[in-house]
Amino acid sequence: GATIGILGGGQLGRMLALAAANLGLKSHIFCPDPHSPAFDVAAARTVAEYDDETALRAFAEAVDVVTYEFENVPARTAEVVAASRPLHPGARALATAQDRLAEKTFAAELGIPTAPFRAVASEAELARALGELGAPAILKTRRFGYDGKGQVRIEPGMAAGEAWAHLGGAPAILEGFVAFSREISIVAARGRDGAFAAYEPCWNEHRNGILDVTRLPAGLPSAAERAAVDAAQAIAEALDYVGVIAVEMFVVGEGERASVAVNEIAPRVHNSGHWTIEGAETSQFEQHVRAICGWPLGSTARRGRIEMRNLIGAEIEAWSEILAQPGAHLHHYGKAKARPGRKMGHVTVVAPEGT
Ligand code: ATP
Ligand code: MG
Ligand code: MG
Repeated sequence: GATIGILGGGQLGRMLALAAANLGLKSHIFCPDPHSPAFDVAAARTVAEYDDETALRAFAEAVDVVTYEFENVPARTAEVVAASRPLHPGARALATAQDRLAEKTFAAELGIPTAPFRAVASEAELARALGELGAPAILKTRRFGYDGKGQVRIEPGMAAGEAWAHLGGAPAILEGFVAFSREISIVAARGRDGAFAAYEPCWNEHRNGILDVTRLPAGLPSAAERAAVDAAQAIAEALDYVGVIAVEMFVVGEGERASVAVNEIAPRVHNSGHWTIEGAETSQFEQHVRAICGWPLGSTARRGRIEMRNLIGAEIEAWSEILAQPGAHLHHYGKAKARPGRKMGHVTVVAPEGT
């Protein structure tokens, strides 16, 4: 059978490998950390750094198609792999999603609303941008931030120098604060043939900068839901995207006046899509495998009312109580150390519609 190559060995790679196995495929995981949760379920592994070009070439030659489960794959790594095997999503999607400035500029060029933003490369530029956008505002590193790390909220009256010092001088973006009523994401897939299939909008709540709960249905007004799906499709098409994509968005306003603004693009399967394993006809992981292999996309239909809850840090210790709850689907990522803020597992409950 065919083998898919996955760059990155976290829980997303693990769930991708499980879905691939179900479709008769083998997975070969490439990751520098020998304790990666994806290794437990993979047919083959390479433990090497992402700049080890010899190891990357051998990995690519051992597989049929390559994908990744984190967006910080270095550009050179993607280039080396793509020289010998198809890489999905492609280098353009990766480059755009890695850099918050490129990402927001790209969305704005498509006519998709975002928070107002300015590029900031020095304390003086931050002071000027703050004068233009006003406070509150959020200063974020352009690259490498996740789970709310690498960002600082600037309150009215806070000095530019203080905020700038927080990020240690890394190239940054200043975003005007969006007074959102809710946060949602669109998880969708685009096939090699251009077919596009979105799941319904996911309603996401964060705690300490980390996704806490995802619920469906989100109950969005139909115009806002359409705008959200259209934005995700326009982004996927403009990137000539292949695979599952997630687009995080803010909902601004309520009822028929609600609108959406794009926050960030994840060029991969996404935490807010974990509910699809039990709650949709096709899981996001299977959908991604179908897309990168050039196979038909599956149905994204939802099977009930959904609540997906992350198990962060010590919350995983309650796993046996969770197992005792009827209808609770536990996913334990098998990570050895439950550090605070670390995603250790998740639990999904699918309730019958109308209950
Ligand atoms: P992730 O873990 O989803 O990749 P991240 O660290 O890359 O997150 P963002 O998604 O940009 O960071 O921001 C984290 C959270 O901070 C958002 O989900 C939202 O709650 C809040 N936030 C970010 N930007 C803004 C903004 N411009 N206005 C208001 N709230 C914001
Ligand atoms: Mg992010
Ligand atoms: Mg985010």
